[in-house]
Amino acid sequence: MSADETVVSLSGVDVHFETDSGINPFADPETVRAVDDIDLEIAENDVVAIVGESGSGKTTLGKTAVGLQKPTGGTVSYRGQDISEARNWFSKPEIPFSEIRRSLQIIHQDPESSLNPHKSVRSSLEQPLKKWQTDLGPEDREARILAMLERVGMSPPHDYAQRYPHQLSGGETQRVALVRALLMNPDLILADEAVSALDVSLRVEMMDLMLDLQDSFDTSFLFISHDLSNARYVAEHAGGRLGVMYLGELVEIGPVEEVLQNPQHPYTKVLKWATPSLEIGDSTEPPIREIDIPDPVNPPSACRFHTRCPNATTYCQETAPEPLSTDGSDRRTACHRVDEESEYWQRSPLEGARLDR
Ligand code: SF4
Repeated sequence: MSADETVVSLSGVDVHFETDSGINPFADPETVRAVDDIDLEIAENDVVAIVGESGSGKTTLGKTAVGLQKPTGGTVSYRGQDISEARNWFSKPEIPFSEIRRSLQIIHQDPESSLNPHKSVRSSLEQPLKKWQTDLGPEDREARILAMLERVGMSPPHDYAQRYPHQLSGGETQRVALVRALLMNPDLILADEAVSALDVSLRVEMMDLMLDLQDSFDTSFLFISHDLSNARYVAEHAGGRLGVMYLGELVEIGPVEEVLQNPQHPYTKVLKWATPSLEIGDSTEPPIREIDIPDPVNPPSACRFHTRCPNATTYCQETAPEPLSTDGSDRRTACHRVDEESEYWQRSPLEGARLDR
């Protein structure tokens, strides 16, 4: 990937939040390491699907990638421009923050939150066109809006254009949110659990629509989901990458078919096992030692998965694994097991774990 093809680049990104420490007002605030030391590059026409349990930091990562959340460490750049610097009033960025905001769009799980309930669909869709496509007159704007509504299956478009959000179904509202994002002519759309609230029957339809539009509009997608089957569907159909997050860390990322056919991180194997359509072999035992997710305020030392991992050794408690690419490709895994030279292989398994190859 050459630098000028890169739309968004995250380098060593942390997002740490201080939280209220409870009933004792004199106690030090606690820190939640929602995102910890993440590197990620998203190129033009790229599709990256990120999957993880609730509390894994995937939404925070997505919001940070599109400039809606400030990192507390590391850098997020849009086409080489540091977004934090562009946001600073006193700096003179090469790319102004307003341009970055236009280029990086988001579709929420609850699209109603991004549509004004007092505005018709037409009025909501006119806004971005008036702001960003000033060369278009009223007739051109109307034609563009109607064509886009038709394109996303909202027909007859004249009828849908005059409706208000409460007159739309969940799937229709999500389509309007998608059209609104696309009318900004973005480089990247963050789809944050964008299909999770839809009926199962509508999910595939919506994901197909996103993929179709991603292809036609040359837009990149960062698709966030707690559901591996949805993340897989999107990444597989777009020939994209699948990333797996655990307690704020990106533990594995690579081309979706490689990650799913040959998961390297034990946590990826758990997610795969827990997704019936992707089940590994005929094992009925979960490939995990402990079901409960640790507290993100006080995550386990070193490898954060060591309290649950079926292959953990004493080394995993002491030394955090670095994300490694074993074959020089853009596949990376943060687990000692991918390093044949690691001291991990000389150590004793933790209680209940097995050191099998
Ligand atoms: Fe399991 Fe150790 Fe790999 Fe962590 S580093 S995932 S504990 S084997």
